[in-house]
Amino acid sequence: MAFADTVRYRYQTDLEAIKAAGLFKGERYIHSPQSSEIEVEFPIGSAVRKCINICANNYLGLSSHPEVIAAAHAGLDARGYGMSSVRFICGTQDIHRELENRLTAFLGTEDTLLFPSCMDANAGFFEACLNEQDVMIADRLVHASIVDGMRLCKATQDTYKHSDMGHLEEKLQEHQDKRSRMVITDGVFSMDGDTVKLADIVALAEKYNAMVFVDDSHATGFMGKTGRGTHEHCGVFGKIDVITTTLGKALGGASGGCVSGRRELVEMCRQRARPYLFSNAVAPVIVAGALKVLDLIGASTDRRDKLEWNARYWRGLLKEAGFDLKEGDTPIVPVMFYDAKLAQDFARDLFDEGVYAIGFFFPVVPKGQARIRTQLSAAHEKHHLDAAIEAFKKVGKKHGILGLGKKELMARAVA
Ligand SMILES: *Cc1c(COP(=O)(O)O)cnc(C)c1O
Repeated sequence: MAFADTVRYRYQTDLEAIKAAGLFKGERYIHSPQSSEIEVEFPIGSAVRKCINICANNYLGLSSHPEVIAAAHAGLDARGYGMSSVRFICGTQDIHRELENRLTAFLGTEDTLLFPSCMDANAGFFEACLNEQDVMIADRLVHASIVDGMRLCKATQDTYKHSDMGHLEEKLQEHQDKRSRMVITDGVFSMDGDTVKLADIVALAEKYNAMVFVDDSHATGFMGKTGRGTHEHCGVFGKIDVITTTLGKALGGASGGCVSGRRELVEMCRQRARPYLFSNAVAPVIVAGALKVLDLIGASTDRRDKLEWNARYWRGLLKEAGFDLKEGDTPIVPVMFYDAKLAQDFARDLFDEGVYAIGFFFPVVPKGQARIRTQLSAAHEKHHLDAAIEAFKKVGKKHGILGLGKKELMARAVA
C-alpha cells in the first residue's frame, strides 16, 4: 500500500496540529452570486443565511454586473466555451488579442500578454526575462506569487525592507555590478492596504539604472483618478517597465491575469514564460466579459469614485468605534487583533450578526499580526456599511476590545 497507515497518520497529526494552533482554514459555501449581499452556508450543513459581504476583491462591484454577464453570454455564444489549447498551439482568438490591446491602452504600456491568472503571470515573468547576470530586488511584503516566480528565476535575489526607500537605494548601489537590476513591488499591498511609494521608486530606478516591476492586482481599475492603477495614483503613468495584474479582482472577478509593459519584455514572455506556454488560454467567455468591464470603467469613473467614498466612510466608522486599524488610503481596511484565535472568533461572531468577514493569520500574515481584512466595494451602499458597523461594535463590546490600542491588544494576545 503506497499510502501506508503510517503516512496517513503523519498527515493526520500535522492537520491536528494546525487545528490545535487555531490556524485551520475552513470553507464557507456561498449560494448566491458574488455581491455586497450574499447567501452563505456556514458551518457547512447549516441553513443558508443572507449577510453583508465585506471581504471580497469585488472592488468595482462588477462581479455580477448585468452588462458584464450579458457580454459574457454573448461571448460564450459567439466563441464557444473553451479553447482546449494553450495560446501558441490553437488557443488564441481575435478577442484575446483585442483584450490585450485594450489592456495596453488602459494601463498606458506598450504591449500586454494574457495569462491564466496573475499568479501565473508572476510565476512566468522573471524566469522568462532575467538570468544569472541580473538581480531582482523585491519589497519584503510582495505577494506570494512573486516570491514563487522569483524562486524559479536564476537571477540573484535580494530584498529591501517594506517601502524603505533608503534601504532600496543601498541595495541598488550594492548591485551596480549586475547586468541589470529590477525593483519588484506590489502596487497596493494586499494584507496591509498601503500603497507603494512609486514616484520614489521610479526616481531611484532612473538614478541607478534599474527596471521597475509592479504587481497592481489590488489597484487596477480604481487607484488613480481614472482607475489606471498605482502608476496613475503616484504620478508616474507610462514610466513603469512591467505591470502584472489580475482580471480576478476589480476587473470582473472571474479569472485571468496579464503581463503588460515594454514590448520586448512582453515578447520574451510570449516566447518563454512557462504558464503561458503550458497552461490553457483564458476562456472566451471571460475575455468577452473583461472587454465589457473595460468599456464600463473607460466610460465613467463613477464606480471608482463611489468606492473611494465608501472606503473613507468605512474607515471613519471603524475608527470612531474604537478599532485598531492599519493606516492607508485604499479600499483595504485591516482591523487588527494580533491574536489568531480572537480574529477567528470575532469573524464567527460577526457572521452571527449578519456580516461576512474572515480572520487572517499566519501564514497569510506574519505571526502575531492576525486581523480581519475588510474590503470595500462600489457595490456597497451606505446602509450596508451602517449595518456592518453596528455588528462590529456589538461584537467588539462582547470581546471587550473597543478603544484598545495596539499595545493593549498585543498584551491580551499573549495572556
Ligand atoms: C490576487 C493577487 C494575485 C493573484 O491573482 P490571480 O489572478 O487570482 O492569480 C497576484 N498578485 C497579487 C498582488 C494579488 O493580490
